[in-house]
Amino acid sequence: MQYVSVSQYKDFNGTTGKLGCEAYAMAKLRGEVEEVSTTPLLVGSYVDAYFEGTLPTFSAQHPEIFSSRGKTAGELKAEYKQASAMIDRAEKDKVFMQYMAGDKQVIMTGEINGIPVKIKIDSCDGKRITDLKTVKSVTETFYAKDLGQRLNFCEWWGYDLQGAVYREIYRQNTGKLLPFYICAISKDKTSPGNIPHPRIKVIEIPPMVMDEKLAEFQSNIIKVQRLKDGEIEPLRCEVCDYCADTEVLDGPISMDMLMGEI
Ligand SMILES: [Zn+2]
Repeated sequence: MQYVSVSQYKDFNGTTGKLGCEAYAMAKLRGEVEEVSTTPLLVGSYVDAYFEGTLPTFSAQHPEIFSSRGKTAGELKAEYKQASAMIDRAEKDKVFMQYMAGDKQVIMTGEINGIPVKIKIDSCDGKRITDLKTVKSVTETFYAKDLGQRLNFCEWWGYDLQGAVYREIYRQNTGKLLPFYICAISKDKTSPGNIPHPRIKVIEIPPMVMDEKLAEFQSNIIKVQRLKDGEIEPLRCEVCDYCADTEVLDGPISMDMLMGEI
């Protein structure tokens, strides 16, 4: 409640790839939304934990990553074997590891438009800020209907905006404006056969894009704070699962409305 984080901001405002919902974001802040941990999320956390140097602790806290039955009992489940292959691939590359070097999970706070903001940087060595992402594919593009164009995964999931905020808060704390990079490892594998062939890339988010995204964050964060302060009522998106779970019907709708914005 005290700080706006990038993920909290995205809950309110969404990204090009995922619609935001103010009602959902507020319910989450009140602790009313159950957080689900899906296997893809846990695979991402497994890779994160490795690079943070906390894999032993992570493995102890998540016994569900190990197979408990049959011949493979005690071994990592297939998804986490794949995660290990992804880590091994990245480990073999000098440039990738160079960009992943530095302090891990650096927490900083600052203010944007007078509103307290908190960030957690994956990796920072004083010369650059890096965020690690496990992705389905590094080259996949997504069609943004509103923009009439295809976007890469960094734009689609708002990693450019994340970079903009991290760069700004880091600057406020240190006086240094650093470049921001995404270190991406993909989950590509052969079909058939399911043999992992991860792609790795170090991606620079252009400073000019971050300038634009910071301006967008600056203007939208005001409403986020007003919503959190209870000054304005959150809007329901009527599309997300939270809105579906809490919808109260006020009568019948015309069947034409089924083909509306949704
Ligand atoms: Zn909603």
